[in-house]
Amino acid sequence: MSVRVVARIRPLLHAEIEKDAIIEPTGDSAVVKIPNPRCQSETFSFQFNSVYDRETTQAKIFEEEIAPNVKSLFKGYDVTLFAYGVTGSGKTHTMRGGKSLNDRGVIPRLLSSIYRRARKIEKDTEGETGVEVVMSYYEIYNDKVFDLFEPPEKRTPAGLSIRDNNGKTVVVGLTERPCTTLKEFEHLYDEANVNRSTSATKLNAHSSRSHAILCVKIIQTTGGETRVSTASAIDLAGSEDNRRTDNNKERLVESASINKSLFVLAQCVEAISKKQARIPYRESKMTRILSLGQNNGIAIMILNLAPVRSYHLDTLSSLNFANRAK
Ligand code: ADP
Ligand code: MG
Repeated sequence: MSVRVVARIRPLLHAEIEKDAIIEPTGDSAVVKIPNPRCQSETFSFQFNSVYDRETTQAKIFEEEIAPNVKSLFKGYDVTLFAYGVTGSGKTHTMRGGKSLNDRGVIPRLLSSIYRRARKIEKDTEGETGVEVVMSYYEIYNDKVFDLFEPPEKRTPAGLSIRDNNGKTVVVGLTERPCTTLKEFEHLYDEANVNRSTSATKLNAHSSRSHAILCVKIIQTTGGETRVSTASAIDLAGSEDNRRTDNNKERLVESASINKSLFVLAQCVEAISKKQARIPYRESKMTRILSLGQNNGIAIMILNLAPVRSYHLDTLSSLNFANRAK
């Protein structure tokens, strides 16, 4: 498996003012510079595979980082995308994005590209190869798995169980929905996202504390032969340390499990990028279900950064975290 770690700096929002910006464009497309919070005259510098500045459009992120992998996906390689960062740094914007065509995030763009390629393959093979697309969408909250196609009131508190099956980890009872067109996909994706936000309200928790995992399975059938590959897109829980801001007991439990799965994720990404033999993917539910690093796929971690002072400490820890993982 190969891995890329790229940073994306979001623009300042209306309520934020330029004098509070702490990450300035460096002119270098692979470096992020940030002052030391304890000594403003000192600057830390971080290098990534690529750095996208505040002006970067949704189209550009998709075209440069995601689109080049669609071909590999159809060749049978898995593609896994992560959006990592503090709550408010732009993870959901990057993954899902807004409603307008220009604002669409990498997920709808990826699906659009998948359907385009599927139709082309079907046409080029004169129907000999058929392509099916099947989606599942779930969240991991407090290390429990919840199906986002189930309305929150139907959830069992323990969540869905996971099981090893022929060397693969599967979520028992997870809904899989075939979607033949982009329209169908978008409809199901929106429906599941409504469950995501209502569950967040019901559990008295923000969606910022759960990991949302979308899996899109691509099944290509030619004669009696099938080729299956999976594109996964994960909008991770906010990487902020809740212990610092809010230390009631429930938050502490949440924080421990959020931080554990993010910690294991970083360890896995680090092990993959350093080509280590042992990847600790079994140490958290998320990495275990994704079988992270267990095949010849491609992983891309987008480190979302909010360039403002109020996020300074958390941004610095995000950068340190991703720096280890690259
Ligand atoms: P997160 O999912 O990490 O908590 P969001 O994606 O919700 O963060 O982003 C926080 C706010 O910043 C939202 O209002 C979002 O629309 C805005 N935002 C984030 N990234 C961008 C961007 N690249 N361009 C414009 N607005 C952005
Ligand atoms: Mg979000």
